[in-house]
Amino acid sequence: MRVLITGGAGFIGSHLADAYLTRGDSVFILDDLSTGSISNVQHLKHHPNFHYAIESVQHEATIAEAIDDCDVIFHLAAAVGVRLIVESPVRTIETNVHGTEVVLTHANKKKKPVLIASTSEVYGLSTQVPFKEDDPLVIGATNKGRWSYACSKALDEFLAFAYWREKKLPVIITRLFNTIGPRQTGQYGMVVPNFVKQALSGRPITVYGDGTQSRCFVDVLDVVQALMGLMDCADAIGQVYNIGSNEEVTILALAQRIKELVKSSSEIVMIPYDQAYQQGFEDMHRRIPDTTKIRETIGFQPQRTLDEVLGRIIAHWEGRDHAGRPLPRPVVERLASLAQRAGMG
Ligand code: UDP
Repeated sequence: MRVLITGGAGFIGSHLADAYLTRGDSVFILDDLSTGSISNVQHLKHHPNFHYAIESVQHEATIAEAIDDCDVIFHLAAAVGVRLIVESPVRTIETNVHGTEVVLTHANKKKKPVLIASTSEVYGLSTQVPFKEDDPLVIGATNKGRWSYACSKALDEFLAFAYWREKKLPVIITRLFNTIGPRQTGQYGMVVPNFVKQALSGRPITVYGDGTQSRCFVDVLDVVQALMGLMDCADAIGQVYNIGSNEEVTILALAQRIKELVKSSSEIVMIPYDQAYQQGFEDMHRRIPDTTKIRETIGFQPQRTLDEVLGRIIAHWEGRDHAGRPLPRPVVERLASLAQRAGMG
């Protein structure tokens, strides 16, 4: 099978590319490297079944040709990360809405199946946990920048459903809940890489708010299995699925767990939301998926525990700088001796 992955140099896309290549399929990735990084797919560059183009999904000629040459499409390219969304709302809305429109238009010309990556963020301020796929969405006010992401993704979902109902384009919609793993960068606000990097460097671990808010973190390798399983399942067409884990953890408990696993001397500090993001920032208190639907459709259940994936993430960041580039040896040694002196070794 020939698989097109938009956003394929990103965190989830690159792991999806790995899995398809291992299965023996061909992979073509399209990425403008805005939040993705070529280093995520560096190891694939010489693979005979791997091809890539550095270009935006909004570039119609490139996307048309890529869709022509593939059998299925994973549309993962999007502006992601709460920090990026709060700081660049124009880019978020334009990338997410227009990008999806271009992908669906061209997929429809050839009637190629498209899986759209949406987000648990669409449940917004809903407090009715666990969230079920057909629950109403409770989006915050339009003057709160954060909700532009939820809205842009909800619009992507509406558009995908519209293509399915009106034009019989085979679409699958997935709502991803807090996915974590190696290669995820903390640059756009994601909590786990931030905490891991802070713990490894001995800097304070920054818990926003009072730390009682909770999330269910799922290993990217499990998410990849879910995405591939749905694409292989005819019953998934025209449906929306939550993908996530049911292991709930508060952000304060997460900070303590990471500090312990790293054996870090970092202190855990609380930062008010107004300072962490911007005045009037609204967070979701609990975000828990109901995963009955995907379990009943493809038998999906996450296989890896939080501690397991945290261990791999810590191993990924050890000896790397903030962007994930390996540090030169003397720097690694100096950091290790500093850590030893601080009682972390
Ligand atoms: N968070 C935090 N410290 C950080 C980054 C994030 O306490 O350095 C909090 C954030 O406010 C939220 C949770 O961790 O309550 C998860 O944040 P993330 O941006 O990873 O995901 P999302 O908010 O989309 O669930």
